[in-house]
Amino acid sequence: MQGAFQKHQNMLEELGVNSIAVRYEGDLDKIDGLILPGGESTTITSLLNTHKLWNAINIFVHNKPVFGTCAGAIMLSQSAHDKRVSPFGIMDVEAERNAYGRQIESFSTSINIDNMDLKEFHAVFIRAPRLRILSKDVEILATFNHSPVLVRQGRAIASTFHPELSQNLGIHKWFVNEIKHQKVL
Ligand code: GLN
Repeated sequence: MQGAFQKHQNMLEELGVNSIAVRYEGDLDKIDGLILPGGESTTITSLLNTHKLWNAINIFVHNKPVFGTCAGAIMLSQSAHDKRVSPFGIMDVEAERNAYGRQIESFSTSINIDNMDLKEFHAVFIRAPRLRILSKDVEILATFNHSPVLVRQGRAIASTFHPELSQNLGIHKWFVNEIKHQKVL
């Protein structure tokens, strides 16, 4: 709909994975997993409503692997404390939008993601949210300044940074393996 989906598609292509940009409800029948890209969660919500896609994506994310990045992570949360945002609520986290304030709205840092065996992953934060964990079912995969920046719950993962802007295919590769794993279950 909106946001940084092309770079995600480029990464998937590099991994030899076919992808499509989901624009219509029927597109969801063609895919095994979904990346909800960064952008603006307010705009994403209003576009999903105008295009009558909110319900179909809600069903998809409740049943299939999904990876939300930045605004996409906000869309997976229980609440963004913003009436203009209708998140799907599949992860037990609350999102504070634009939590890093004006001065450092955008910054990058290097993080370690031990579970994925990724060292010094270049994490780019753009008007990123901060997540508050609401249940023990949420696994924290990476932190920055004591805040969770990559989390997992069930079939869903969410990053508050933009992995598609690094040169590292590691998280995408991990997600694709998860999808393959889910398919054989
Ligand atoms: N600030 C945006 C929001 O609230 C997220 C920014 C992003 O996705 N890079 O939705």
